[in-house]
Amino acid sequence: MNAAKLFIDLDAIAANWRALDAMSSDHVETAAVVKANAYGLDVGRVATRLAREGARSFFVALANEGVAVRHAVGSDPDIYVFSGHMVGDGALIQSADLIPMLNSPEQVARHFGETPGAAFGVQLDTGMNRLGLEADDWAALRGDLMTAGPRLVISHLACADEPDHPMNHQQLRAFQEMTEGVARRSLSATGGTLMGEAYHFDLVRPGIGLYGGLPFADAEPVVRLSVPVVQTRAVRPFETVGYGNAWEADIERQIATIAAGYADGLIRAMGQGARVFAGDIACPVVGRVSMDLITVDVTHLDEVPDALEILGPHQGVDDLAEAAGTIGYEILTSLGHRYSRRYSGAA
Ligand SMILES: *Cc1c(COP(=O)(O)O)cnc(C)c1O
Repeated sequence: MNAAKLFIDLDAIAANWRALDAMSSDHVETAAVVKANAYGLDVGRVATRLAREGARSFFVALANEGVAVRHAVGSDPDIYVFSGHMVGDGALIQSADLIPMLNSPEQVARHFGETPGAAFGVQLDTGMNRLGLEADDWAALRGDLMTAGPRLVISHLACADEPDHPMNHQQLRAFQEMTEGVARRSLSATGGTLMGEAYHFDLVRPGIGLYGGLPFADAEPVVRLSVPVVQTRAVRPFETVGYGNAWEADIERQIATIAAGYADGLIRAMGQGARVFAGDIACPVVGRVSMDLITVDVTHLDEVPDALEILGPHQGVDDLAEAAGTIGYEILTSLGHRYSRRYSGAA
């Protein structure tokens, strides 16, 4: 089978973790966010590799994601769950030894009622209004929570991809005020990690930067995607290519059809803004992206290779995201299940 090949460089993920870790001082722990199957790249392999690199704390979105991490990293590392203690999570939290970030008075009651004595953290809302205890709930519950001893108290920045946004400083001040005297605190994901010491507290928790995405502009690229050419044809002037006749040849053109499409996460919206690469040479995508196929203008190539690269050194996830009007996070987490995945640097 000649499927598209997705190359995932675990050594690059490890190098990105080390580079982010080097941005904070030694007393600040650098955790790793591996939610959504490690941003689509395989949580088992990624968590194993990062544990070997020295990561001791991992974050997932949901309790069931934590089970795979526990399986990968063994009993020692801390595994935190952003969505906290949801209805029905008690057994998983106990069996996989997960640390739910309690987000509401209901979750606090559930956790202490169903899993008394089990570890927990607290997530505070400092203005994003997505997850976390509001200031007045925190004020009411703080005494009991602090007596029980949270492992970590966190909040999350809404605008950390824009370092100059006034929201960052506003949330920083709110977090400082709400957590005065709290032993272990964390405010920053990748964006806040890049914003400097004031945002680091005791633990930083990067996700996207590990996987080579913005806002960590200096990240090592992690993924490469090579898509086989199915056929190549000559298209005469005024002939059209693909659905809706969306593209028309001006002069005679050579068009290659490659075997991946929006069902593989190469979303339709990237349409004609995207390029694919034959080595160093860019080839424009022409016409609409189909479910399983993309058409590419290869007129300027001396020879059409067996496969063209859509993600790689010349076009990263954020370049492709820009062509599609989205963000690198969405490109990564959408990468499909039909690819033949090749991992390098495995533990
Ligand atoms: C996803 C997430 C992170 C990691 O964010 P990145 O921008 O990918 O670094 C950290 N904290 C919380 C609460 C998150 O939801």
